[in-house]
Amino acid sequence: MDRVIIVRYSELHLKGKNRGWFERVFAVNMEKSLKGIKHEIHRHSGRYLIENFCESDIDIILDRLGKVFGIHSFSVALKVGADMAEIFEAAKQVCFGKGKFKVETHRADKTFCLNSMQVSSEIGGRLLDENPLIKVDVHNPEFIVNIDIRENGTALVFNEFFKGAGGMPVGTSGKGMLLISGGIDSPVAGHMIAKRGMTIDCIHFHSYPYTNLQAREKVIGLAKQLSTYTCGTTLNIVSVTKIQEQIHSKCNGDYMITILRRFMMRIAERIALDCGAQCLITGESIAQVASQTVEGITSSNSVVKVLPVLRPLCGFDKDEIIERSRAIGTYQTSIEPYEDCCTVFLPKHPVTRPKLCDVLVEEEKLDVQGLVDEAVSTLEIISL
Ligand code: ATP
Ligand code: MG
Repeated sequence: MDRVIIVRYSELHLKGKNRGWFERVFAVNMEKSLKGIKHEIHRHSGRYLIENFCESDIDIILDRLGKVFGIHSFSVALKVGADMAEIFEAAKQVCFGKGKFKVETHRADKTFCLNSMQVSSEIGGRLLDENPLIKVDVHNPEFIVNIDIRENGTALVFNEFFKGAGGMPVGTSGKGMLLISGGIDSPVAGHMIAKRGMTIDCIHFHSYPYTNLQAREKVIGLAKQLSTYTCGTTLNIVSVTKIQEQIHSKCNGDYMITILRRFMMRIAERIALDCGAQCLITGESIAQVASQTVEGITSSNSVVKVLPVLRPLCGFDKDEIIERSRAIGTYQTSIEPYEDCCTVFLPKHPVTRPKLCDVLVEEEKLDVQGLVDEAVSTLEIISL
């Protein structure tokens, strides 16, 4: 009797003609997530079976599968021969010691000697004979003994369904460039868009030496954590030190964040286009901070020429974002206290509702194109 994991996928069935491609991407993503762990993946009638792993790896396998988008649910099952005696032995093992239960049978092999109802009542009856502390309740069972008789002469017996990450397989919805700061919001934004099947590359802006190397390590850590959901990522790191110095020395300081944001968006779009990303993604949320008013967003958005900017957190409260951040495991890193570039040269009274015409007047004092080119030349790429 072997332990196996049944993986059921989620929205893939919606995708008609592309279904084969979706499934291939999905299978590759599962393989990537289980890299370094002994296992085999087999596809079988609309789901996957993970087999031949070491018992001691089961928790780590479940943890990794829990991060693969596209999985609707999974179950740990016992695999036996399609034979009533063997099925009964497995059913005894997945049966709780006491409580109300029912047996549910699915029979893909229509040539099996009993039909589904007969299998359920026969196995249920034998379980009752064995254990006086259990009783059948088909309407309100406390546990279910599931029996799946397959076409290849085997049967799977299991009791629990674990919820999968849902969503679409990463790699089936194009590629986006996530502007990742060291904060709480941007990793959550990246996770949400990856869940819809998008490959995520990241870009981070720093102001070294005004920001320190720990701030950089923190962002690398966040991108790495995000990459466990996105089947890897590429982190682009760009210095905006010169840009911040120039804004500080030449422009009205109250516009520091507004103008810096515009530079970030310009640089992010340029690098996104160079590496084939089809949109920008930010962790902005309306009215969360001074720069995230609709006027602030208008100002930063207006320099983006071609790509759409996705802001999945726009309508979220900070509490909701924190809850997600904890759930995906980035929160503890995000709250480490190292400074992001935006806090360097921070004005006492930043403009909260910048008028685009005023921003343009300030920005005219700078060599915008030259500064963008210079920043892009500092690009460093880390594969995670
Ligand atoms: P976060 O928690 O993601 O840092 P925040 O609440 O601190 O967000 P802001 O600092 O206003 O908000 O940043 C808004 C968005 O701009 C971020 O979510 C991120 O997408 C982008 N951003 C801000 N700073 C940086 C940076 N240093 N590098 C890359 N992107 C950045
Ligand atoms: Mg931030």
